Amino acid sequence: MKRCIFHVDVNSAFLSWSAVKKLKEDPSAVDLRTIPSAVGGDVKTRHGIITAKSIPAGRMGVKTGEPVVKALAKCPDLVLIPSDFETYRAYSRAFIGILEKYARVVEQVSIDEAYLDMTGTEHLFRKEISGGEPFPFCAARVIRDEIRTSLGFTVNVGISTNKLLAKMASDFEKPDRTHTLYPEEVPSKMWPLPIRDLHGCGGATAARLYSLGILTIGDAAAFDEELLKSVLGESAGAYIHRSANGISTSPVRGERDKAKSYSNERTLAEDITEDNYEGRMPEILAYLSDKVAGRLQKDHVRAATIGVIVKTGSFHRHTRQATLDRAVNGKDLIEKTARGLMEELLKGPEGLFASGETLRLVGVSASGLDDSPFEQMSIFDLMSDAGEDAGREEEKEGPEAFFPFAAPFPSGTREPEGEREVSSPDPEPPSPSPLEEKKKRLEDMVKKIRGRYGEDALRKGSGLKEPSGNV
Ligand SMILES: [Mg+2]
Repeated sequence: MKRCIFHVDVNSAFLSWSAVKKLKEDPSAVDLRTIPSAVGGDVKTRHGIITAKSIPAGRMGVKTGEPVVKALAKCPDLVLIPSDFETYRAYSRAFIGILEKYARVVEQVSIDEAYLDMTGTEHLFRKEISGGEPFPFCAARVIRDEIRTSLGFTVNVGISTNKLLAKMASDFEKPDRTHTLYPEEVPSKMWPLPIRDLHGCGGATAARLYSLGILTIGDAAAFDEELLKSVLGESAGAYIHRSANGISTSPVRGERDKAKSYSNERTLAEDITEDNYEGRMPEILAYLSDKVAGRLQKDHVRAATIGVIVKTGSFHRHTRQATLDRAVNGKDLIEKTARGLMEELLKGPEGLFASGETLRLVGVSASGLDDSPFEQMSIFDLMSDAGEDAGREEEKEGPEAFFPFAAPFPSGTREPEGEREVSSPDPEPPSPSPLEEKKKRLEDMVKKIRGRYGEDALRKGSGLKEPSGNV
């Protein structure tokens, strides 16, 4: 069964919510959404950063994320509104509350946006509700109408068969609109867009892509995947290529699914090197796998995704993970998977040992949790005839996939030998390495590519203007 995924995004959230609150207090007040206005910074001193802007302000060139001073230079009449997080949280809760009435699974990704898995919900939109409009358009309209009439603000709904495309679609024309971006519409609707607009493609990644002559999402889709990987790194390169082609398999994860990951880590008194690997690693992995398995069993859950974590002598954190055919919680399978992943990460010409690294910390993690034997049946299980969900397929996607190289620890410090047990809502995304290091890595890559594919393999972008991204 094809998935039906919505991405629902509040239009100019902070600004709309401030406007709605003001109108509630004083119905004769001017609607801030209809004039050039913005939330952010210190209204009195006129310092700080713009966090949201009205559509009229946007037309005057005001951008989210820019200094208030700069915005005022472009738009001297800009009305500045102070942030009001208490109000924002209240509206956010009410917004999610409405979404939960209509979707099988709601994954809130920020204060003002959420993915909905609408697969198999056609039955909820019978004729009297749909007004004869076909599904899923009627569903999007019903959701938008209810939010507008009961809460007073507007949202955009993006519809597709996966999260990435739904997210891209909700970013098309605003406000108060529904857009589709189905896989077959990718060439016409997504490929002409600047590469910077691809979800998860940050400024630094875009800059590297420009230098390869990749200006649009379509350029990236047609580009050689191996070449992309050699420039951006394995995971970022694969992500860009896959996403540019509209491919994404990550499931909409409700609160229950993303409850936890388990990991156990051990800081070593003496580094593991290529020479002492065989003597030490198997024992450490057996020990850590046993710890993780014990915790999973205690909580009556199984994990489909097993991962390994290492921190190198140069203080970089690296991870590798694999998703199994079925969720497990036995020590043996966890250990076997961890061993395989560790070999992949460390050995071979691309491995960490080949670049002279040693290890000061080793960890084993388990995520993609499944507690199904203990799960209650929901109305949606009864409605849909099969458990057709893309389910357990875990894929690293979105911005976090972009930081394959973690930031170094403050130099000169060494954590004490010891163990750490971690349960986290989501594995903590590693942070980007310092600019200098990235530059050097990029230069090395360029050399490598030129060596492999000839001097003309890379051409410098010329006269390119970086397109502005939407926040
Ligand atoms: Mg928004």
